[in-house]
Amino acid sequence: MTRKRKEKIKIDFVCEKCGKKQEPDKNKSTEQWKVFDCHERCECGGKFVMKIEE
Ligand SMILES: [Zn+2]
Repeated sequence: MTRKRKEKIKIDFVCEKCGKKQEPDKNKSTEQWKVFDCHERCECGGKFVMKIEE
């Protein structure tokens, strides 16, 4: 992954079951770079999947 932010592509992680957005890891994230814990599960039990918005 790069840190380039010129593109307007936004990447979100959403629950595949209920569509809820995953919150970034507060300990690892910075203002410029959001870190998501890929092992985290949604409270409904669903898995978070990457969703790309252009
Ligand atoms: Zn969910």
